[in-house]
Amino acid sequence: GIESLTVFYGTVRDYIDPHYAKDSYYKQSSGKENCFFSIIHGKIHRNKELLSDENSIAKGMKKMKKYLKTPRVLRRATLLAMLPVFFLAGCGQKTECEKSIDTAMGTVISQTVYVTGNSATTTNSKINEKITDVLLQKLNDLEQKELSWRLESAEVARINAAAGEGQNSVSPAMAEWLGRCRQISEESAGAFDVSIGRLSRLWDIDTWAAAGDSGDYELPRQEEIAEALATTGWQKIQLEQQADGDSVSIPAEMQLDLGAVGKGVALDEILKTLEAHPEVSGAVISVGGSILTYGSKPEGGAWQIAVTDPLDPSESVGVLTLDGGHCVSTSGDYERYVEVDGVRYHHILDPRTGSPAHSDVAGVTIVTKDGFLSDALSTACFVLGQEEGQQLLEKYDAEGLFIDHEGTITMTEGMRQYFHLSNSQK
Ligand code: ADP
Ligand code: MG
Repeated sequence: GIESLTVFYGTVRDYIDPHYAKDSYYKQSSGKENCFFSIIHGKIHRNKELLSDENSIAKGMKKMKKYLKTPRVLRRATLLAMLPVFFLAGCGQKTECEKSIDTAMGTVISQTVYVTGNSATTTNSKINEKITDVLLQKLNDLEQKELSWRLESAEVARINAAAGEGQNSVSPAMAEWLGRCRQISEESAGAFDVSIGRLSRLWDIDTWAAAGDSGDYELPRQEEIAEALATTGWQKIQLEQQADGDSVSIPAEMQLDLGAVGKGVALDEILKTLEAHPEVSGAVISVGGSILTYGSKPEGGAWQIAVTDPLDPSESVGVLTLDGGHCVSTSGDYERYVEVDGVRYHHILDPRTGSPAHSDVAGVTIVTKDGFLSDALSTACFVLGQEEGQQLLEKYDAEGLFIDHEGTITMTEGMRQYFHLSNSQK
């Protein structure tokens, strides 16, 4: 079959599916931050429209060539989803597969959705509306109405704009997220803290990492870090619940950044939407690497989710075998970073120091049934390190897999039932 593979942000993700590579593959996306390559019939193709920077082209080509040199069996281990397109489910009902790759929430959304039955859309008011489009719209709404700190229309931006001005009414959803954030801050002794907005903007690693070229990046000065750090502190976020609704207030200097839970919230939203569409029999959806498994595959068997090797992100260390209804989130120092004088500065900050976190964890992957939790806990565990991270996970009944800077893997007891090493690791 045709094999296709994509490089986003220099991270290699692998998809093997004959129908996938043919059309709609380069579905136009709005993200200038994406670089797209693909391998079709063993040849490297690049999407010139999305790739203008010579430097990232060179880097991408190198990765692709390396990938092509690895034996096919090992390549397969890096796949996210490997599924044929048409099936006959029970009762002779036809199952169709919808696939898409788009950008939303500043990241890459890839969807594989199985729709079983006659008309996928009879339950929808808009005839022929694809479920993948419905979900994408949900994510755009979430970003624009709730989570963004950049877009004025979003609730987080509104709260930030009103910093120091007393209580501001917020949606029940926002009140719930902030309440849960506060709990995780408390349980993690402040390793997780969404009040780090000024710090994350000062470091601004996400922006520079997305640009793919850190040549002109300047490290923040120590005084600047101290100044931004002084504005943080989750205890100072005040949530109030009254008969007429929820409200929040933050001190004048503080800015919220919900980047550590955005993808998780997105997975929860997607799950709700899928549950409201009985024609969807199964799905695996990735929001920037945070993944939801849903329902079952047409041919049966569990979903296979690759775990990226933080020491070599073009490889995977192994595969998680999961039933529908699980959320997988990963935080790592290889995802978004800039390099200055050979030192890597990544985007997860330690709210206790004001600088990128330095624990014994190079990458951590969390499995839970709740998207918000999986995302928040992966960030918290990355900052806390393996030992304290595991203790935190126990409180939430979540499973975690930790990889240290030497490549040693440690995991919670319950993770053992899900995780299998790649052949190359055995
Ligand atoms: P990714 O977005 O790569 O999945 P995370 O889920 O770990 O990574 O979220 C990282 C984002 O969370 C950062 O870009 C920043 O916006 C925010 N963040 C960074 N450090 C912390 C922290 N210690 N606590 C809460 N949020 C953080
Ligand atoms: Mg996270």
